[in-house]
Amino acid sequence: MTADPFLLRRLRELGAVDAAREQALLRDGIVTLADLELALADRRTSADDPVLRDAAAAIAADTRPLGLGRAWDILEQFLPLLASACPDLQAIEPSGPVRRSEPLLNGLVVVARAADPARAIDAVARMPAASGVLHRTARRILIVVEGQELDVRVSTPDEYGSVLFTTTGPAHHVADLLKRRAPRLSASEQDVYVQAGLTWLPPETRDAPDAMERAREGMVPRLVERHDIRGDLHMHTTYSDGREPLRRMVQGAHALGYEYIAITDHSEHAGASRTLTSELLERQRAEIARLRHELPRMAILHGIEVDIMPDGSLDCPDEILASLDIVLASLHDAAGHDRRRLTRRCLAAIEHPLVSVITHPANQLVGRREGYDMDYPAIYAAAAASGTALEIDGAPSHLDLSGERAREAVDAGVTVVIDSDCHRVRSLDRQMRMGVGTARRGWVEPRHVLNTRPASEVRAFVAHKRSR
Ligand SMILES: [Zn+2]
Ligand SMILES: [Zn+2]
Repeated sequence: MTADPFLLRRLRELGAVDAAREQALLRDGIVTLADLELALADRRTSADDPVLRDAAAAIAADTRPLGLGRAWDILEQFLPLLASACPDLQAIEPSGPVRRSEPLLNGLVVVARAADPARAIDAVARMPAASGVLHRTARRILIVVEGQELDVRVSTPDEYGSVLFTTTGPAHHVADLLKRRAPRLSASEQDVYVQAGLTWLPPETRDAPDAMERAREGMVPRLVERHDIRGDLHMHTTYSDGREPLRRMVQGAHALGYEYIAITDHSEHAGASRTLTSELLERQRAEIARLRHELPRMAILHGIEVDIMPDGSLDCPDEILASLDIVLASLHDAAGHDRRRLTRRCLAAIEHPLVSVITHPANQLVGRREGYDMDYPAIYAAAAASGTALEIDGAPSHLDLSGERAREAVDAGVTVVIDSDCHRVRSLDRQMRMGVGTARRGWVEPRHVLNTRPASEVRAFVAHKRSR
């Protein structure tokens, strides 16, 4: 492995730097693409050059981004190792685009503080998990973990807030804010905003076009948090394409302290590797009844994720759907349909009295397929009017509704639901967190979210639509 940071290697390959320029970048601490983007946004002299600007854009465009799920795979393994290798470190936080819950991202950053940063950096350099050291200073070390560059920043306590803020990005937001305040160090990120005369912004909102305006006017509501979530209304078991048996999924959800969950396997003609026949559905019903006796503290709703067929009908007879506690409907199969027909199918499901939730409404596949082209304003209006929830699906492949669409939906009066869409126990919590992160990108508040409410209100939401 070459011992150079990826950015410098690429800049050389592009012919964008000579030795003198490279030294200037290094002197200025510019060793990652995020550093360069910030320096460009900041018009810092070492980087203020059209050649570098073009090179940064080219590198950003041709670098294969990392999915948020993969980023968490790496961080969830690395962070405990970091904490035990460097017991001096405090307030260890993933920063950068992970902290903003970007579905696809460039660059892993971890921020921590220590009384003696240089000593902590020494300890990081010795970690067996670091398969290479690409760059180091007294406050920073760029290592390779699982083939990815990971930027570890260690600050002193009095500058922790400043480092957390600048590494979180995005670059244009950081540059805009820094223009508003006298340069000084902040121990807390809140203080960075206060010094600039602004209200603190949750990291997930800093990309929003009106973020700065809201921070200026103090219009920053309390957004939904993981601990607001009382239950998970979308998960799969081995009755369909889930990896683990019903009992294990239920126990896993119970261990998370949920007040309620819904078991929602795929309907018979869904494109999943395994689906529910009516016979399997009855067997599942009996098993859920037994589990309800074993775990009386948690409500177990028996549901289904039913496919919306090409003609707009549902892939399950109404009398069976009516016997379930909750029905989720999904447009998994586009059937080659155009905007008009996809919209019509989605609206048909929304108008169906037994459908309470539309799962991953745009059916986007992060990095592989844009969401469907549909008439979203019409979908939001119909969902709000009919009492149908639209889902924010936390599976890293979906993250759908996206933050942007979730914001449009709640602005249109839609109730959203944040689900894990989990296929295995160990992702139940993590996918819920990614769903919450996505919701926060859409400025979603607890009051907008169905599953921040107690089980009785979830049942009432379902019953209300069914009674119409
Ligand atoms: Zn689905
Ligand atoms: Zn699903």
